[in-house]
Amino acid sequence: MSTPPSVETVVVDGLALAQEIRKELSEAVGRHVAAGRRAPKLAVVLVGDDPASASYIKGKRRACERVGMDSSETKLPETATQQEVLDTVAALNADDGVDGILVQVPLPKGLDPKEVALAIDPAKDVDGLNPTNAGLLLQGTADLVACTPLGCMEILRRFDIPLEGADAVVIGRSDIVGKPVAVLLQQANATVTQCHSRTKDLREHCRRADVIVAAVGVPKLVQRDWVKPGAAVIDVGVTVVDGVLTGDVDTEGVQGVAKIVTPHRRGVGPMTITMLLRNTLTAYERRKGL
Ligand code: NAD
Repeated sequence: MSTPPSVETVVVDGLALAQEIRKELSEAVGRHVAAGRRAPKLAVVLVGDDPASASYIKGKRRACERVGMDSSETKLPETATQQEVLDTVAALNADDGVDGILVQVPLPKGLDPKEVALAIDPAKDVDGLNPTNAGLLLQGTADLVACTPLGCMEILRRFDIPLEGADAVVIGRSDIVGKPVAVLLQQANATVTQCHSRTKDLREHCRRADVIVAAVGVPKLVQRDWVKPGAAVIDVGVTVVDGVLTGDVDTEGVQGVAKIVTPHRRGVGPMTITMLLRNTLTAYERRKGL
């Protein structure tokens, strides 16, 4: 393989960036508490006993604690019915002490995540998955937007990646990552191409892109010769291959070509949790009229 012009590639330290933002969030929470108000509270719901989901929830609750937010966890068994999940959400909607509600996905087979998202009060929908918030996002007026797309945008912003007029390629079109990140990029005045499993010649689309966001779940899909020199590459994908976490981008391969690349560890992941905290603070402030 020929070696393209050498670019000094920055491997984004998503954890360091996340910690910077969490410090700002912690200060904001501190100001509310100092003013005599209760701390913001995130309520998480875990259905079933998928170990990965349990571990994600633990991480989210720990992150809340570290910025001074409250959190609660409602555990439902694998055998929970759709109605039981909806009743849990309804109780949290009605609880004035809860600002954000997150129902961890994937839900066990047979449960409908879209109906659950629809049931969450849009004012407490910190995952941005309720159709009201998804619709407001399309119109550019959403307060609560899906966390991973927000994390991707924050990384681009903090690394001063120009988006105005830039060609951006988003690989993936899920409701939780691909679609909202494409909308956010378009609202930042990028020209966005949304690619997916039926896209013809994905590599050619990527080679033209100033910004690539890969949210697919196919290990090392984006190779060195897919990347234009100087492009920003955001790797959202997380797949476990033989027990090892792997991203959608060949991180090593794009060294010397990409301007920035997020690694699959300490990349977008910590930023996703941080945006969840930010959304919880936003929901709290909006609900209190602050
Ligand atoms: P998804 O399965 O809902 O969507 C995957 C998308 O990729 C689909 O739109 C599909 O059309 C597209 N796709 C599949 N194969 C393709 C191919 N060969 N070429 C082009 N497009 C293809 O997944 P998702 O929920 O959007 O998540 C995507 C990845 O991001 C997963 O690996 C997931 O684990 C990861 N993820 C990471 C974070 C994080 O915080 N780091 C958060 C959410 C999701």
